[in-house]
Amino acid sequence: MQPPQVGKTILIVEDNPVNRKLFLVVLRRHGYRLLTAVDGEEALAVAARELPDLILMDLQLPKLNGYAVTQRLKESPDTAGIPVVALTAHALQDDQAQQSGFTETITKPIDTRAFPGQIDDIFQKLRGKPA
Ligand code: MN
Repeated sequence: MQPPQVGKTILIVEDNPVNRKLFLVVLRRHGYRLLTAVDGEEALAVAARELPDLILMDLQLPKLNGYAVTQRLKESPDTAGIPVVALTAHALQDDQAQQSGFTETITKPIDTRAFPGQIDDIFQKLRGKPA
């Protein structure tokens, strides 16, 4: 049986090309459909068009930062339900992350061996939640 996350769509929002490539490479073999956006405005456009199952959100982004993008996503009924994971070099306090609308925080630089498991865990947790 395939793991439940296979076929899920993940939007990776990251302006740094090296990091973006790394996320793609690390997640590629895990059965996800992967989309990318390189700035805040593109993130909003892709999220609205594709309605991904999960968004991985860098916080420092050109045009609109990750907090502002997430706030806008949460304000729109179409995208409010999409879980957003903050990718940040600075560990966020749990309350700060929650207030900002993030489901979870993953600290950069990522541990490439642990990262796919972290994403799987988030999908497992979300499965237990009512939609
Ligand atoms: Mn950045």
